[in-house]
Amino acid sequence: MIILDSNKDILKIIEKIPKKKGLDKDDVIIGVVVQTTDKIAIINIENKKQNVLTPSATGILFINNVSKDYIEKMGDVVRIGDIIKAKVIEKDKFGFKLTIDENNLGVIKSNCFKCKTELVLNQKEIKCLKCKTINHKKIGKM
Ligand SMILES: [Zn+2]
Repeated sequence: MIILDSNKDILKIIEKIPKKKGLDKDDVIIGVVVQTTDKIAIINIENKKQNVLTPSATGILFINNVSKDYIEKMGDVVRIGDIIKAKVIEKDKFGFKLTIDENNLGVIKSNCFKCKTELVLNQKEIKCLKCKTINHKKIGKM
């Protein structure tokens, strides 16, 4: 079994994010996907634990800000429970609008949707090491 060290890497990213009261355009955030529809993912922005962010901690990712490739459904590349690295585009009344449509942005931690084993995020199509199910992701880089 491969032991992954992604939690430590994620903390390293969060440490590098400057601490301040609010988020601005182009700030990089780390968040957990808490809800998805076909076209939208709702992200719980986690940087708030580091006192980075008030008052709203909700991020919204629209499907057109995921990838330059055509994506039919959000669930094809981002799923509930995934940890993503994203960038703030703007703030609106619903929360922070996010993008992962850049090389280093996207899912940085994810578990197999079938058996919940942590995936090794090294390519768009990821074969689960345990149950061999193929998972699709827009992968970000630590
Ligand atoms: Zn699996």
